[in-house]
Amino acid sequence: MEHYKMLINGEWKQASTEESLPVINPYDKQQWGTIPLASKEDVELAIDAAQHAFNNTWKKMNGFSRAKCMLKLADLIEENTEKLAIHETKDNGKVIRETKKQVPFTARALRFFAGYADKIYGETIPLDNMNLFDYTMREPVGVAVLITAWNSPMQLLMNKLAPALAAGNCVIVKPSEHASVSTLLFGELVEQAGFPPGVINIVTGDGKVGDMLTSSDRVNKISFTGGSFAGRLISKSAADNFTPLTLELGGKSPNIIFEDADLLKAVPGAMAGIFASSGQTCIAGSRLLVQESIYDEVAMRLAEKVSHIKLGDPMDESTEMGPVANENQYRSISKMIENVEAEGAKILIGKDAELPGEGYFIRPMVLVHVDNSMTIAKEEVFGPVLSIIPFKDEEDAIRIANDSKYGLASGIWTSDLSRAHRVARELEAGTVWVNTYRTSAVQAPFGGVKQSGYGRERGWHSMLDYTRVKNVMIDLSSEARDPFSINV
Ligand code: NAD
Repeated sequence: MEHYKMLINGEWKQASTEESLPVINPYDKQQWGTIPLASKEDVELAIDAAQHAFNNTWKKMNGFSRAKCMLKLADLIEENTEKLAIHETKDNGKVIRETKKQVPFTARALRFFAGYADKIYGETIPLDNMNLFDYTMREPVGVAVLITAWNSPMQLLMNKLAPALAAGNCVIVKPSEHASVSTLLFGELVEQAGFPPGVINIVTGDGKVGDMLTSSDRVNKISFTGGSFAGRLISKSAADNFTPLTLELGGKSPNIIFEDADLLKAVPGAMAGIFASSGQTCIAGSRLLVQESIYDEVAMRLAEKVSHIKLGDPMDESTEMGPVANENQYRSISKMIENVEAEGAKILIGKDAELPGEGYFIRPMVLVHVDNSMTIAKEEVFGPVLSIIPFKDEEDAIRIANDSKYGLASGIWTSDLSRAHRVARELEAGTVWVNTYRTSAVQAPFGGVKQSGYGRERGWHSMLDYTRVKNVMIDLSSEARDPFSINV
């Protein structure tokens, strides 16, 4: 049994109350560790530490020095890929073939953002009154709280941490209570990389701990990845303190296959959209919109391929789908698929296939005869359940795609370049993939519209979320101004 500790002000600590939460492997349902359940006192200490580090060390280091720590951290992450990936897989059941790729991707993100650390410029602005000299500077916001979900702890963390550090902020990280271990192991590398104490703090615990952090008036920025329920609560507490907020929430993303698509690419693309990570991705292409003329063919091809997906031990490199991440998740998916037939959908595949072992396994499921108004097409399942919805033509596809409260990602499969651009322009989503799906790049901005959230991660755009603009105006003239009139 491993007993993990939290990182506060460069020191490893248990919760002040000595309370803890269990760490459970979803593959065998066995507890293999504990993480601290932080108290109010621990949370306040972490905020103190971040504030102190911001004012006394990190803010005073130039961008080049900040970048050096970040680059060293990236090297250390790569050297520890195996360890981080194995622990993440043991914690949330994500297949090792994916966690082993996600960990180096986080190092890539750190290197990308380290490059910005000494290139955060202001502007000089020519004014009407030429006796005035005006310039802007971009400043760090101060203390940022970074809250992540359990599905990809390291990757979600780095989307936030890398731009926050590059911009000069200090942070308190709060990973999900269901998968905190890789983030805590990552904390050991933070020390080795030479970050001053308090620049990166990691506190663990449940939503109550998240709430203590996000409702603090000593926090200058919140970035949250998680579900709409918690997102709404955080928006309210952020509003009380006017704390700037980035929200990365859920989705019900449309993946659209037109009749002119290359099905040899589109069918595996549809599978990548929903069965990778056992469907537990915010960008899951859970609504597969297929043109009527090819509907049956696509459904048959998918059913054939899905019947061969290899479920099993997520530690085995050949496993394609592991268990879902935890008991809550298992219960919530099982409940959502209970009623699909009563609503009129037909289960094409996924009802009675054999399951490997006792873990939290859900069979990959393909549903046909799905109408966009059914619950299964409206609500996020966050599991391996694909709804295939027919459409007539381009206009119909766009209408159905946009008929959702969410707007995170979308996909278009077509060989007609003009159609690809036309449809991309019309889709209400933060990301549009054309002839690919679930493809990531640190340079490309990512985020949602509508109830999928706001703000952007990755790319230059995320630097804007972790900096603020200050304007400086200087009167170069030697004349006194008229105190009773506006000076322009
Ligand atoms: P969740 O909302 O239950 O929890 C996310 C995090 O928020 C956890 O760390 C949790 O402890 C914390 N939290 C919970 N209640 C809180 C509160 N009141 N105040 C502050 N913090 C609180 O979500 P989850 O079950 O961990 O993750 C699944 C959800 O995350 C899905 O909806 C999924 O779509 C979404 N997600 C979005 C993205 C994205 O980038 N858009 C990525 C991954 C997951």
